[in-house]
Amino acid sequence: MSRPQPSYLNLSVAELAERAAQAVARLAHCDLCPRLCGVDRLAGQAGYCRSGRLARVASWHAHMWEEPPISGWEGSGTIFFSNCTARCLFCQNYPISQMGVGEEKSSEALARIMLRLQRQGCHNINLVTPTHYVPQVLEALVLARAGGLNIPLLYNTSGYDRPETLRLLDGIVDIYLPDSKYADDVEARRLSDYVGYVAHNRAALLEMARQVGTGLACDEEGIAYRGMVIRHLVLPEQLSQTAQVLAWIAAQLGREVYVSLMAQYFPAHLAVDHPQLGRRLSVVEYDRAVQTIEALGLDGGWRQELESDQA
Ligand code: SF4
Repeated sequence: MSRPQPSYLNLSVAELAERAAQAVARLAHCDLCPRLCGVDRLAGQAGYCRSGRLARVASWHAHMWEEPPISGWEGSGTIFFSNCTARCLFCQNYPISQMGVGEEKSSEALARIMLRLQRQGCHNINLVTPTHYVPQVLEALVLARAGGLNIPLLYNTSGYDRPETLRLLDGIVDIYLPDSKYADDVEARRLSDYVGYVAHNRAALLEMARQVGTGLACDEEGIAYRGMVIRHLVLPEQLSQTAQVLAWIAAQLGREVYVSLMAQYFPAHLAVDHPQLGRRLSVVEYDRAVQTIEALGLDGGWRQELESDQA
């Protein structure tokens, strides 16, 4: 197997520790995400995301169902973080994102998880919903790197991120897996309680592309080691503004960018009886999304299949 080593191995442990210290200092007046709560998480205060000094982890395991170059044959070493910087009515993981299900982990414990996932053979460390725990991830990485971690870090996010925070990860994260959920701030607020999602999301995507490029570099076995994949979940009744989301991506990031178009929406959490969100996608709705992505020439990436019971 020949693939470049992860970028964080080009930094010394001292340089990584300095980056972690910069990030931890931000917890004293938390501005990690666009909410800019300003709370002192080091002193136990909690902001919108209800997160404190330590990372809370819901589960961790080898995940076989990410995109093929991410999961490969041994799986993606997925760490699911608890809490969230949004409140999606349709969240499929709401016990984790909204109810805080999970356990607090010290940086030592988080580092041990990373190393165990590597020992299991996972191709990467996949940080799911990490925005509010960037400092804790960096603290753990210092220890995990010293302990022999040598697989890429993957930042798997809703895309509601600040470039200022992403820059703490420059030269450390090799693969970004951001969502681009909406192209309309009113709907983003109504359905997910995001404030200013569109501008924040687009600025974050541009910063990620600046760091790792817009393609997806894979080794000769097809395993990704650097780049980005943008995910878009198609919602019923065009509530996710799929055509506008994809048009912006094609225009600003280029057609070589990998887009993962997702058809897996089902009503969950507060969407079950919602007048617009209370059903799955129709074939017509999803076909329209596929036609849009094809018309824009976004040929890299993946299109999920609709399940056979969706008519
Ligand atoms: S990470 Fe949490 S506390 Fe910090 S600004 Fe965002 S929502 Fe607020």
